[in-house]
Amino acid sequence: MLEGIGEDPDREGLRETPERIARMCEELFAGREADGQEELSKVFAAEGSQMVLEKDIPFYSMCEHHMLPFYGKAHVAYLPEGRVVGLSKLARTVEIYARRLQIQERMTEQIADAVAAFLSPRGVMVAIEAEHMCMTMRGVKKPGSRTLSVAVRGAFETDALLREQFFWMLGMGTGAQGWRG
Ligand SMILES: [Zn+2]
Repeated sequence: MLEGIGEDPDREGLRETPERIARMCEELFAGREADGQEELSKVFAAEGSQMVLEKDIPFYSMCEHHMLPFYGKAHVAYLPEGRVVGLSKLARTVEIYARRLQIQERMTEQIADAVAAFLSPRGVMVAIEAEHMCMTMRGVKKPGSRTLSVAVRGAFETDALLREQFFWMLGMGTGAQGWRG
């Protein structure tokens, strides 16, 4: 890549860059080696079935089309059925699916599928808001624009009130008609 952009890979500042990037990639793409099931199988018995929402989980991922970062916040909600998971495990699950070459839409679905499969709740809802560097530093160059994506499973698919409660708990209100599906 250095040669491709006309750089001299042997000049002082760049000599160790390939190794540095290789080490960085081990960290940025470590999610491919991680297991969402392992995180989400640490559950506790709990009464009640009202919505649990872990919001504003920060994440950094890499767009697979341009290998540029996209980053923002993930919000993960579920309806417990007799058991709950440690809250840090939801954040860890987001990290697992963020740390790989990714697209936001697929990441949203994968997190919803993992929580649905491994926690077996009554329903799952995931929303992700992110800024994509491939939108803001190149191409259409629209800094500040954000992409929102949402995935629902179980009771959230059929119950519009649950979806409204989700956005109300996020502080997004109920005015966004588009979210009601
Ligand atoms: Zn991209």
